Amino acid sequence: MSVDAPASPETRWAWVEVSRSAIRHNTRAFRGVLERGQKLMAVVKADAYGHGAAQCARIMAANGADYFGVATVDEGIGLRQAGIDRPIVILAEPPIDSVGLIVDFDLEPSAYHEDFVLALGEEAASRDVVARYHVPVDTGMTRIGLPPAEVVEFRRAVGWHRGVSCAGTFTHFATAEVPRDWDFELQVKRFSDLIYTLEAEGIDPGLVHCDNTAATLLHPETHFDMVRVGLGLYGLYPASNCESLVDLRPAMSVRARITRVVEPPTGAGVSYGLTYRLSRANVQIATIPLGYADGYARTLSNRVEVLVDGMRCRQVGNICMDQCMFAVEVNGAREFRKSHPVREGQVVTIMGADGDYEISADELARLRGTISYEVCCDFGLRLEKVYV
Ligand SMILES: *Cc1c(COP(=O)(O)O)cnc(C)c1O
Repeated sequence: MSVDAPASPETRWAWVEVSRSAIRHNTRAFRGVLERGQKLMAVVKADAYGHGAAQCARIMAANGADYFGVATVDEGIGLRQAGIDRPIVILAEPPIDSVGLIVDFDLEPSAYHEDFVLALGEEAASRDVVARYHVPVDTGMTRIGLPPAEVVEFRRAVGWHRGVSCAGTFTHFATAEVPRDWDFELQVKRFSDLIYTLEAEGIDPGLVHCDNTAATLLHPETHFDMVRVGLGLYGLYPASNCESLVDLRPAMSVRARITRVVEPPTGAGVSYGLTYRLSRANVQIATIPLGYADGYARTLSNRVEVLVDGMRCRQVGNICMDQCMFAVEVNGAREFRKSHPVREGQVVTIMGADGDYEISADELARLRGTISYEVCCDFGLRLEKVYV
């Protein structure tokens, strides 16, 4: 067995393995692309893209992350309960009813509705604290925030309240990874013009931030005060043109142990619908306890490979909710000369490296017609995480 696998979880022979040293390395690598004084916000929304927010945030905080970014109030509370004491930004405006929790846990929401900011201010003032918020600006992605032309008026409308203080002004790019892209340039121009206008009007924008992983790597000129890096911290590149710019190590692997091995007769079918049938003898069908409810999307069925014992083997038959099968063609077939039998308990790599082979999140994403972000989020949903 070539994978030097950790003990699998007690209760299940399928798991996500997260490399602490990869998270540490990647965090330091991003610190290295920043100038002195520029802040690094580690984006750990969606349970750190499936990698486990509490564990990852601790490693990132110890290796240079200044700020954390989450999607929801609950995610922010989770980080506080995990002992994270750095500032935490919620990257969208939460429901107005959550202002009590936001103050309780000292979170910094994105906010662009006056009634939200004033409710936050009332809540904070009633406890003699000042709540911090960040203003999102829609410079072209058409998702959240104010159009640039409305920011000055908005800031004046809420600026009188002693319970709130604007800690930042930010935007988000739709096409940062596209080389020499006009739409990206337009977003940058609208954003920097707005920052200039705010300053000219005597309004402090707070921390100015706009870069995701791709923009951080490809456009150092737009780092401003802080960058917001998600994907790269997990060791994945948002596009191939980023690969030469920083050395990253994928942190997530997905592994399972073989629960059953059989050698069915020629003609036998495998899994729901019997979409795969054995065309000859001397084929082992091995089962692993991991399926589409674990993030191994059903659309990968019969199209993907797994790694075991130095071999790349075809996954066969439809992927079930909690299990799937793969074929090991042994004895005889010339094209499989290197293959050899497998046995129960052996570790199978669904994503990640095993000896000379690797199945990357990008490979799985291509086969699924999606992006590596979604591949990782999905694997994080149910599988237990093991930190190595
Ligand atoms: C998710 C997110 C990021 C991080 O993007 P990556 O491409 O993963 O680096 C940054 N900013 C905002 C507002 C986001 O929603």
